[in-house]
Amino acid sequence: MRGQADAVIIGGGIIGLSVAFYLAREKMGNIIVVEKEPFLGSGATSKAAGGIRAQFSTKVNIEMSMLSEKLFRQFEDDTSSKALFDQVGYMFLLQTDEEVTQFTRDYELQKSLGLNVQMLKPDDVPQYAPHVSLDGIQFATFCPNDGLGDPHEFLSGYEHAARKMGVEIAFETEVTGIETNNDAVKLLKTSQGNIETPLVINCTGPQTKLIGQMYGVNIPVEPIKRQIVTTGELDFVKPFFPMVVDVKSGLYFHKESKGMLLGWADKSVEPSFDISIDPDYTDAILEKALDRIPQLEEAEIANQWAGLYETTPDHHAIIGWDSKIKGIFHCTGFSGHGFMQAPAAGLVTSEIIASKKPSVDITPLSPKRFRVGAITNEKNVI
Ligand SMILES: Cc1cc2nc3c(=O)[nH]c(=O)nc-3n(C[C@H](O)[C@H](O)[C@H](O)COP(=O)(O)OP(=O)(O)OC[C@H]3O[C@@H](n4cnc5c(N)ncnc54)[C@H](O)[C@@H]3O)c2cc1C
Repeated sequence: MRGQADAVIIGGGIIGLSVAFYLAREKMGNIIVVEKEPFLGSGATSKAAGGIRAQFSTKVNIEMSMLSEKLFRQFEDDTSSKALFDQVGYMFLLQTDEEVTQFTRDYELQKSLGLNVQMLKPDDVPQYAPHVSLDGIQFATFCPNDGLGDPHEFLSGYEHAARKMGVEIAFETEVTGIETNNDAVKLLKTSQGNIETPLVINCTGPQTKLIGQMYGVNIPVEPIKRQIVTTGELDFVKPFFPMVVDVKSGLYFHKESKGMLLGWADKSVEPSFDISIDPDYTDAILEKALDRIPQLEEAEIANQWAGLYETTPDHHAIIGWDSKIKGIFHCTGFSGHGFMQAPAAGLVTSEIIASKKPSVDITPLSPKRFRVGAITNEKNVI
């Protein structure tokens, strides 16, 4: 027997640690984070591009990200750890009439919710993103409050603050089974022994499906490979260079160290846990990047990696109580925007568990929505 806890958080990624921090602030008793690897943040969190944006197409995603941006800004006050939210902005380049129609609709919704977003003409683009080709661009949207952050800085800030409040972190502890009593969670089986607990928070990101399989529930989160390439030093990338998304091609890029980070969502990739680097995927990223930033001709590849998105059918997170077993709460399936929504996700999760009104109405993120068919797709997915 490993022991007993008032709450066990499965998964030591950015979501698990944000939940640990906010739950500890609610004084929920003794909390253990169990992580199967020897380090925190070695899953999807370590692969993230660091983008933070509130330019989404649904109210709930805009509100979750706006709350997160506020919490990122006050991070040092809340956790006593430094972590930079570099508000260089996010720009979406729009080419087709369909994109312009969709993003105009999103822009109106974002404005109505108080987001400082702007519609730019092509001539306005170079002042924010110099050397980006304007070929085919009709409009761009730009939000100066969006930006970039290092997921590990934020994760480590949450870790230190959570530990100070008494949260225990158990490494190399893999949850292998869940035992229930009268449809309520009773015990977690782990590779280091059993933990008795009445409350489990599932923050396993791309591995979520495997947790559901332990008690016969399909939690629709698919692991999908995404790749990234970074370049060596480039003198045209200035400190204010924003995150830019070329909506038509799916390419995105931002400043990274003294060079650039380039990413692309290959929508043809089938779900799997494979994170090997596919050279064809790398070539496709470079080809799209050269079209949009011809100056990259001079760039050297510095690094590349592959990681897993934790994708749900509607590209919204799953946050809420399990529909079958009492005492299991899900905070997962962020569909590629889990770093940016981690602060709000941790806060609303802790509020709901503490029986408080959540800061954001997250009804659209309920695990039940797939069963009852109450689904709205997030359209602005990278
Ligand atoms: C290439 C790429 C680029 C991305 N870019 C961005 C971006 O710019 N902005 C953004 O917001 N998001 C981005 N994301 C998405 C972001 O990385 C994820 O949404 C986020 O990291 C999810 O965090 P998590 O804590 O849920 O998952 P993870 O970081 O994967 O953490 C889950 C943890 O659970 C552990 N675990 C799983 N099963 C068990 C078990 N049975 N027992 C114990 N432990 C277990 C895992 O080891 C892991 O550490 C990107 C993702 C990728 C792959």
